[in-house]
Amino acid sequence: MELKNCKKCGRAFAYKGIPVCGRCKSDDEDDFTKVKDYLYDYPGATIREVSDETGVNEKQILRYLKDSRIEIIEEGNFILDCERCEKSIRSGRFCDVCLSEMKKEFRSVIKPRTEQAKGKEKMYITDKLKRKEKR
Ligand SMILES: [Zn+2]
Ligand SMILES: [Zn+2]
Repeated sequence: MELKNCKKCGRAFAYKGIPVCGRCKSDDEDDFTKVKDYLYDYPGATIREVSDETGVNEKQILRYLKDSRIEIIEEGNFILDCERCEKSIRSGRFCDVCLSEMKKEFRSVIKPRTEQAKGKEKMYITDKLKRKEKR
């Protein structure tokens, strides 16, 4: 048996592949059920409302959303903001528009030899890449 400190409450517990102790894990599941039930009854509630009514703190509710654990969101709860443009989204961290834009941006970063990368910028980027290759 391996003893570890619980990530949530810090108490030592018998580690079985989950970083929190049994007590915190069941607390967490209770909280999750409360949040889910509340959203089921009141679709469209804000995080603050859910938090006030269920007693679960806002950070924790956000975590459920970001982990995409609350599926009920798909049915019309708009209580998250895109981290990039602050548009309301249903789950995750970014809206669809930002996601596809970020994908494009990401591609232009990994493929610098496009029309966009001209002159100095191009030289700078290819230079950087070369240096990386040498390592
Ligand atoms: Zn604990
Ligand atoms: Zn966005």
